[in-house]
Amino acid sequence: MNFDQAKALRLQQWRSTLDDHDFRMENPEAHRQTLREMSATLASEGLIDDLQCFDMNEMANAAYWHAVEELIDAPIRYCGASAYDVVKHGSSELLGVIRRSIFYYVSTLAEANIATYDGKIYRSADGANLVFSPSGMIAEIKGLTLTLPDGQRYELVETGRTIEGIFREPVDDPDSYRGLIDTALVAKESRDLRSFEKLRPLIDLAKFRICPVCLDRFELQEDCTACGGHGFLAKL
Ligand SMILES: [Zn+2]
Repeated sequence: MNFDQAKALRLQQWRSTLDDHDFRMENPEAHRQTLREMSATLASEGLIDDLQCFDMNEMANAAYWHAVEELIDAPIRYCGASAYDVVKHGSSELLGVIRRSIFYYVSTLAEANIATYDGKIYRSADGANLVFSPSGMIAEIKGLTLTLPDGQRYELVETGRTIEGIFREPVDDPDSYRGLIDTALVAKESRDLRSFEKLRPLIDLAKFRICPVCLDRFELQEDCTACGGHGFLAKL
């Protein structure tokens, strides 16, 4: 392979990552960071110049803002950076937990030294699958509902998420949530990407969500009966 072929291949890899819709929608911040790392490597190896690098990063940023807009009314999806309790539908019975795409039964977690795992999550075209180990049985995850082959349903309740390398727990205080969404709105309006991308995952992880009726818009919020004028609701 000559220099031009190698360069074309590497640029193609960057392009495929840019176009990876699932990756972008599942974790827009990681998607952008990955693209920036790729372009920085290409520049350091002399495969692209500073201007090309700048243009590619601008495209990554544009893709990020686009994802943020798309996610406003997108259905909630499984996130590989998140930890979940797997709870039986309609009850509080805990089947197990998912941590960084690995599933453990409650009984495994009770062991002093967890030496094994009981399943692994793989992304699929329209969600994800939990493949149990060692049986190979597959449970489908759509949204945050997990369905076993026999039809039993479980809900994935997010208990935390690794954000920029740090495990964070959901914000459960309404005043803190209000502070987060107000600060994020200012960052978004001023196109302050660095500030916004630190806030968005925390807002997404919180125990609250923006009211789907008034969308926390000042002029609609006051008379909104769905959220009682708060602009946001507790997640179910
Ligand atoms: Zn409302």
